[in-house]
Amino acid sequence: MAFLGSAVRRVVSAGWSPLSPFCRTSARSYSSELTKEKSVPYDKTLKQEDGASSGPTKPLPRSADVVVIGGGSLGCQTIYHLAKMGMTNVVLLERDRLTAGTTWHTAGLLWQLRPSDVEVELLAHTRNVISKDLEEETGLHTGWIQNGGLFIASNKQRLDEYKRLMSLGKVYGIESHVLSPAETKDLYPLMNVDDLYGTLYVPKDGTMDPAGTCTTLSRAASTRGATVIENCPVTGIQVRTDDIGVKRVKAVETPHGIIETPCVVNCAGVWATKLGDMAGVKVPLIAMHHAYVVTERIEGIQNMPNVRDHDASVYLRLQGDALSVGGYEQNPIFWDEVSDKFAFSLFDLDWDVFTQHIEGAINRVPSLEQTGIKSTVCGPESFTADHKPLMGEAPEVRGFFLGCGFNSAGKTGTNIYTYK
Ligand SMILES: Cc1cc2nc3c(=O)[nH]c(=O)nc-3n(C[C@H](O)[C@H](O)[C@H](O)COP(=O)(O)OP(=O)(O)OC[C@H]3O[C@@H](n4cnc5c(N)ncnc54)[C@H](O)[C@@H]3O)c2cc1C
Repeated sequence: MAFLGSAVRRVVSAGWSPLSPFCRTSARSYSSELTKEKSVPYDKTLKQEDGASSGPTKPLPRSADVVVIGGGSLGCQTIYHLAKMGMTNVVLLERDRLTAGTTWHTAGLLWQLRPSDVEVELLAHTRNVISKDLEEETGLHTGWIQNGGLFIASNKQRLDEYKRLMSLGKVYGIESHVLSPAETKDLYPLMNVDDLYGTLYVPKDGTMDPAGTCTTLSRAASTRGATVIENCPVTGIQVRTDDIGVKRVKAVETPHGIIETPCVVNCAGVWATKLGDMAGVKVPLIAMHHAYVVTERIEGIQNMPNVRDHDASVYLRLQGDALSVGGYEQNPIFWDEVSDKFAFSLFDLDWDVFTQHIEGAINRVPSLEQTGIKSTVCGPESFTADHKPLMGEAPEVRGFFLGCGFNSAGKTGTNIYTYK
């Protein structure tokens, strides 16, 4: 059995990676090469054998009012909301299958309280859509789990910040409670509270299921008249210059035909820069490796809330009777040459980068030290210079909209800002 605690000690003391003794798969490298490993906490993805080579799942229309490019979280949210606004002649084009990029392996954490009113409203909207609206509209459950969220304050300033969040939440009707260390221990008996000032507990926070959410969004959009086409890569974007010299989107090119359109929404995740290049638009985001590990079973963890320790830069996500342990890498690995052949793929985890999270996680839930690692999940995610997403019309070309660069918060929203 491989334990989290031993991983830290070995890395720190010996200066070598703990990877091989702690994983069930034997031959792995430390490069940023893609791996086809599917050791993720989902039994199923939407991938189908030979899916990408079988041609588009529907015939392409000759024209559309809007073409959304990319069938991840953002693309599916975008087409759903366009359809709900009453636009029916809208098309989503996904190169592979829905969720194939980053979305399929996301941790899916949704925290409702963020430091600005706009973010709080957007998150409330997202939560409403995935926990209520979609189920009412489609009869399908999105996979939403409401297990609550717990923010950790290990200094007074952080607790003051959480008190402000609680006040903000009150304005928007979001239930939250500031808990003392003793109350936190009652709620989460496995937690070390010795170094805590307090916590902020939000009972209606929870976890989204990426596949379930995207399938349901796409179903609801289709019911309202939108068209979702998979196995259809966009290979070019035609731009025209109008009579007064303004550049405008004209059409989207694919190997299976051209769709005339005045408007595209670039929801292509880490591939969004490539789509931008096709139209002469600069998309300022950077692709990085981002990761979490899934533990073996932990006795007593069932039904616990998700935990976010901002000072340790760590999160603990409930994963059935285990935890996913992740964080925000301070020395991330950049994905310099973004590959187009990466559907449903992962990178090997770099333990030298990841170890910083383990220490914080073990401090918070000490039983993790003796807990084995079941699998690792390291995928690509886009980050921007100011940690804000790229949204709205690009200045270079009229009709070319961006919905990308979500800084590891894209699963939670239609339009979400980040709070790291
Ligand atoms: C390990 C990890 C954990 C995370 N945890 C969380 C979390 O807890 N909460 C949270 O909110 N966020 C989290 N995130 C971030 C979140 O998963 C992403 O922000 C989100 O999934 C991005 O969605 P997207 O639609 O922008 O991109 P993607 O899911 O990558 O979708 C882009 C799609 O575009 C398609 N595409 C690309 N090029 C083309 C083309 N030429 N033509 C047609 N289609 C194309 C791709 O195939 C892909 O399906 C996490 C990310 C990682 C890596």
